[in-house]
Amino acid sequence: MGVVPLKVVRYLAWVLSAVALVGIGGLAATLFLKAGDQEIPISGRAEANKWARMYPYIDGHYPVLDSSWAKTVERSNLRSVSLNAEERHLTRVFITKLGDKVSEVDFTGPTPLVFNNYDIILWDQCQEISIETFISSTLTPKQLTITRDAIGAASQKLRELTGLNISFPAYLLAGGVSFTEENLSTYLPKANTIEVHVAEHQNAALGNKEIALATTWHTVTDSDRASITSGLIALSTDFLDRYPDGGFDSPSLQLAAFHELSHAVGIGHSSDGASYMFPYMGTEASITAPDRVVLALTGSRPCYD
Ligand SMILES: [Zn+2]
Repeated sequence: MGVVPLKVVRYLAWVLSAVALVGIGGLAATLFLKAGDQEIPISGRAEANKWARMYPYIDGHYPVLDSSWAKTVERSNLRSVSLNAEERHLTRVFITKLGDKVSEVDFTGPTPLVFNNYDIILWDQCQEISIETFISSTLTPKQLTITRDAIGAASQKLRELTGLNISFPAYLLAGGVSFTEENLSTYLPKANTIEVHVAEHQNAALGNKEIALATTWHTVTDSDRASITSGLIALSTDFLDRYPDGGFDSPSLQLAAFHELSHAVGIGHSSDGASYMFPYMGTEASITAPDRVVLALTGSRPCYD
């Protein structure tokens, strides 16, 4: 079961991409308008489905179920996150007529970011993960404060809902920031770290109309068991330029940061238009019950003895 240290795989998750921005058009300022756990009106889903028809998924995963959370459920070691009755119901595992195992949660929208024959690729729950934030010095003081606080709040939400062993550097807790001017196209984040870079667009390794990208690195053992070892989130400062001070509110930015951080712990997009992990964020996006289940599952993966 030796670790193969050099077999590092880079997977890309296109996030808040050109399609999302094009899709919402003049409604841009209402992106992520409602962060939190409020009830989702039917109209939100209908609106999202309309966008989905207009702008087909670029990764081709929707609505086909091509992977399952079932193995992750069966291997799960839920520790600090407790699920309520509705959420536990979603973790039921069934065997299909073809002999495949599926979980109830598979039919409610959430997908893994990446998986192999062994299972969905996640962090090991014993691994201490540091979330470090780097912000371009080109931001205005107000933009810097809004951005830093949104990423900090999203990071703490991630720790709460996954139960992962996430820590924050002292400068973030003290309200300080590190500045970045890195060219992210060739940048490698530190091991056991999720680095969040809010960078000028030309440094963010994004396409012309893309505003965010999450990348994870993995190691694979000889048994095909793979673990995430680091993550890199690039957020273009264009994100803020499009929405001048006050036009892009803090809860919205929090949910955008939380969307990216969720990719960095192994969660892909959701086919549910009400979910904050839907690739095209609607005017009503929240952390749904299925989202809570898979967030808990991402922190449930036992370590090797
Ligand atoms: Zn995304």
